[in-house]
This record gives sequence, structure tokens and C-alpha cells, in this order.
Amino acid sequence: MNPIGIHAGVWIGDWSPERTRFAMRRTAEAGYDLIELSASDVTAIDPALVREQLVEHGLRAAASLGLSFDADVNSEDTAVVRRGQDKLATALDLVTDIGAHHLVGALYSALGKYPGQPTRAARANAVAAIRELAAHAEQRGVLLGLEIVNRYESNLLNTTRQALEFLDDVGADNVTAHLDTYHMNIEEPDFTRPVREAGDRLGYVHVGESHRGYLGSGTVDFRRFFQSLADAGYAGPITFESFSSAVVDPVLSDTLAVWRNLWDDNVDLARHAHRFITDELHAARQR
Ligand code: MN
Repeated sequence: MNPIGIHAGVWIGDWSPERTRFAMRRTAEAGYDLIELSASDVTAIDPALVREQLVEHGLRAAASLGLSFDADVNSEDTAVVRRGQDKLATALDLVTDIGAHHLVGALYSALGKYPGQPTRAARANAVAAIRELAAHAEQRGVLLGLEIVNRYESNLLNTTRQALEFLDDVGADNVTAHLDTYHMNIEEPDFTRPVREAGDRLGYVHVGESHRGYLGSGTVDFRRFFQSLADAGYAGPITFESFSSAVVDPVLSDTLAVWRNLWDDNVDLARHAHRFITDELHAARQR
């Protein structure tokens, strides 16, 4: 059975002790197995408190990260690449410190609209940086998931095929593809082929609706997607992502262009999403 996760951005926009406890309690109450933390600003997070709260509520965790243009391994500028590598190393430390085993997201790129196509040299720097990160992650029992995102959020990995080529070049068993239905809806031909192509190299999944609101209220073909996951025997985490201007993270909200209010009641949203994912998976396994 897949661990069902929820992005902390559904609950909170900052990691004060009070908000940290709130997010953990809400995640457990809504029936989830896992909470995903944004590692964009690790200085805001108290890892000891997170670890304690995970144990208290019987939860697992994952951390996700997208790089920024001033600290980006997908760059020709060695100083920018170095800062990107530092950011990745810090995020990996956070994963270890909270007792987690998944570091996912746009680890290979800044999250944002690039001014042009990726260059050969920038891509080579990204491959080398992920290979180095993978070696450190391996020693700590951490799996990396490279999230395939839409063209407005990276110029490097927009499709599963591009990601699989990148994984071949990295050549490390603990680096996997991370699919997200929100991005797939923009870039992929359908919701079946990417899952089939990734096969056992699929390591992490985000489910998000086409507008990142309530699951089932947009255009994503979740029936096909969950059927593909079931057919592929995917057993990894499935994490619900949804963003609304109702919860504002000072770093993440602007990066992800969260300009609209898609929900106010995050308890209802989270319960609905958990039921939706569980029901879809259940039905897919019966077919
Ligand atoms: Mn995502």
C-alpha cells in the first residue's frame, strides 16, 4: 500500500513551533501517513521539533525543494552552481535531521521561467551535481526524486523521457523520477504513458489538480493515472499538493504563482483529497 502524503503548504505558510505542531496534528487527523516539508528555507524549520512531532503522530516525512536562479546547478556559472550544490547539501541535512528518506522536487534546476533553452554545459553541471548529491544521499539511506515540471518552471526536465535520459546520465540507483499530475497535464501526451515509461524508476508522486485546487474539480484524468500506478505496481508515496492564497508561504507562494483563492477550508480539502486518492486506488486495484 502506498503511503499517502500531504504537502505542508495546505496547512501552514511558516514553521514557527506553534504552526509546526498544528500541521503535524492536522495531517494525522486527516488520515495521512506522510507530510512533505518545503526545504526552500531550512533556517525556518526546527528539525528536532519536526522529528519529535513525527514520532508523536506516527507520521513519515519527505522534503522537497526547487532551486533558485542565484543558486542553480543548471547553470554555466560555477559560483551559481556552487551555491546550488550548497543548497542541496543543506536540504539533505534537513532530511537526515528529521529522520526522513525522501528528498524530491526540482533538485536539478531553479524553479521558474528560464530566459532560454538549457545549454549543454549547464545540463552537464546539473548531472554532476545530482550525481554528487546521490552519493551523499546513498550513505544516509535517502532516495532522490527529480520532479518533472512544466516549461514555465524549468527548461530542463519537462517530460518523463527527458527525465529518464537525465537519470541514465546520472547513473545512480537512488535517483528516481518524480511525477506530478499538475505538470503532466501541461506537458505529457496522457496520464498513462509516463507512468509506463518510468516503470520501476518512478520513486515519488505528486497529485495535483489542473488548477491546483480540489481533486476532481479540474481536467486531470485521475482515473487513468491511478490505474497506471496500480498496473505498474507503484508502491511509493503519493502526496497531495494544493495551493491557495488562503495559506501564504513567503518563498513558495510567489515561486509557484499562487495568486488565486482556490479554497478556504483546508480541513475539508485535505479530508476530501485523502478520500479521493484512497477511493481511486481502491477502484484501480479492482479493475
Ligand atoms: Mn509538485
